[in-house]
Amino acid sequence: MELINQQYCVQQIPLTALTGKYGTPVYVYDTAAISRNYHQLKKAFRQTDMRVMYACKALSNLNILKYIHSLGSGLDTVSLNEVHLGLKAGFAPHEIIFTPNCVSLDDILEATEMGVHINIDNISILEQFGHKIGDKYPICIRLNPHIMAGGHHHISTGHIDSKFGISVYQMRHVHRVIDSTGLRVEGLHMHTGSDILDAGVFLQGAEILFEAAMKFKNLRYLDFGSGFKVKYKPDDKEIDIDDIGEKISSAFNQFCSDYGSKLELWFEPGKYMVSNSGYFLTKVNVVKQTVATVFAGVNSGFNHLIRPMFYDAYHQIENISNPPGSRTSPERIYTVVGQICETDTFAWDRSLREIKEGDILCFLNAGAYGFEMAMNYNSHFRPAEVMIHEGKDYLIRQRETMDDLLKNVVSAEAFQAV
Ligand SMILES: *Cc1c(COP(=O)(O)O)cnc(C)c1O
Repeated sequence: MELINQQYCVQQIPLTALTGKYGTPVYVYDTAAISRNYHQLKKAFRQTDMRVMYACKALSNLNILKYIHSLGSGLDTVSLNEVHLGLKAGFAPHEIIFTPNCVSLDDILEATEMGVHINIDNISILEQFGHKIGDKYPICIRLNPHIMAGGHHHISTGHIDSKFGISVYQMRHVHRVIDSTGLRVEGLHMHTGSDILDAGVFLQGAEILFEAAMKFKNLRYLDFGSGFKVKYKPDDKEIDIDDIGEKISSAFNQFCSDYGSKLELWFEPGKYMVSNSGYFLTKVNVVKQTVATVFAGVNSGFNHLIRPMFYDAYHQIENISNPPGSRTSPERIYTVVGQICETDTFAWDRSLREIKEGDILCFLNAGAYGFEMAMNYNSHFRPAEVMIHEGKDYLIRQRETMDDLLKNVVSAEAFQAV
């Protein structure tokens, strides 16, 4: 987003023009940002055979998936439905990895029928799969190295009582299962959770994975999951991706030489790929002065962007109807809230350029886990989605209508006359 002639624009298109055209609330995605993020990662890891497996769950609109596929990325999926979306978007089965947790054996078997890479994250399924399939289908195993990722406890998946992955302390058990069933292991995986800021945490996990990997004969790839930190606040430290890339690449290349073959290095970034490509645009319904604060109430809520309430996430907000230098007004302190009947605060005591009713507030970094986590609570419609690509805007998801709210409701016979 940049200011051009006192208008906030994405690829030269003023965001207020988009809200005029498509209404609010609306999610807007900038494909140029996604491309920059992808190429930044590729460049940082250019010394290795690195593959980006974009984590579909962050933003799964089919158009976005098609675009990401066109960049050369693979896809990380966590449900069979995401596998279907990936195939529909044009990813070949071998470009997709299925990395669920606690799904049924049936789901895993169905994924093998679709021909995608599968990642098994518990010993029970490993055993059942092994007895059924043996060496007929290669697998990846998700390990938990017990590295604590920084940030909020909801998003660390590496700690000792986490439900994710097989503990590295259970490797002997894993090898017993493999030896007795003939399972063919082609990859090892770890995903320590989000918001890792420096190479240290990654390398700690990597060393553990390398050590475990030495005991497997025919690996093709190591998958380091994700967790690249994204800059949310204006003064947040940006992750030094080149530094991380260099350090991990050199550790990885050293490992490959010890291991005796050149493996692929996989990552599954979600946020890093799409977070800063997304803008969530809402309209201010009311400005409400109370004794303690001034509320700006927008035509949305945690039903459309749950991250502030769910993770305490900070999203920068701009009043794009009042850009710097337009209306002669100072910044004021606002608490930005939604319109649903539940506490749904987007931002507490935030200094924003003066807000009038009818103004458009733009939430930054709304590309990842924004629309994806939207719901119909309070019977509101989920927002529209718009993609800006090569200087043009495209509607890529319609705003819902009353028909959508009713489409799966079945009228009970007893009430049909009513
Ligand atoms: C959620 C998830 C990711 C993506 O995480 P981000 O923080 O969005 O980068 C990657 N891999 C797995 C297995 C996940 O569950």
